[in-house]
Amino acid sequence: MDIPKIFNISESAHRIHNPFTDAKFATLGAVLRLEPETRIVDLGSGSGEMLCTWARDYKITGTGVDMSELFSKQAKLRAKELGVENRVKFIHADAAGYVDNEKCGVAACVGATWIGGGVAGTIELLRKSLKDNGIILIGEPYWKKLPSTESIAKGCLANAISDFQLLPEFVESLEKLGYDVVEMVLADEEGWDRYEAAKWLTMRRWLEANPNDDFYKEVRAELDLAPKRHVTYTREYLGWGVFALMAR
Ligand code: SAH
Repeated sequence: MDIPKIFNISESAHRIHNPFTDAKFATLGAVLRLEPETRIVDLGSGSGEMLCTWARDYKITGTGVDMSELFSKQAKLRAKELGVENRVKFIHADAAGYVDNEKCGVAACVGATWIGGGVAGTIELLRKSLKDNGIILIGEPYWKKLPSTESIAKGCLANAISDFQLLPEFVESLEKLGYDVVEMVLADEEGWDRYEAAKWLTMRRWLEANPNDDFYKEVRAELDLAPKRHVTYTREYLGWGVFALMAR
């Protein structure tokens, strides 16, 4: 069980697998006013940067679940590196349907809402692990500028324009699900560059090191397209943020 190989290659050197920077995660942790020993469940925890740094900075505890074997391994190493391996645990598994047996104060899915079949389904799933008055965190793209054609949406690696909404509509849709939006931290273009552009050097280095790999052609094709696609589409059209929700 694993995620598609291209991500395990192109994002192998990423600590954060979304357009957030260290500073954005620090801001998010601070604005949530996390009490020490708050328990956090994180579905699609990637390389564990959110849980590990918050365990160090805010003394939270938590469990992350991620389907990438590589990222899960990196998350465990990061916990050791930051001296928080007694506070956070990482499970390599499919997080679809994952419900923690201990209710938590914060339940998060930051950039992986397909795990619950979309935003609404993921909120439903996270709620099953959440204490009353706990906080749900959803990291999700939105349209900064509405694409005028479906091919622009595809350039942003969306399937269709209808995959995402403009920010006001997205916030309204969260409220319509019965939640107060109690905080939000939005990514910016610098964050998109860190996420996307960091893949290019990683892919280039991988190509040099793996000239005979079956996957060489695919990675070569991706590196040919990615920089131009990023500056033409994603960077211009796509926003991304983490939204903190409490049931009304
Ligand atoms: N939240 C992390 C990672 C976001 S990227 C961060 O902010 O850095 C999306 C993550 O979802 C990847 O780490 C990928 O391995 C993971 N993923 C994809 N499908 C999954 C599934 N079905 N169950 C668990 N994790 C999944």
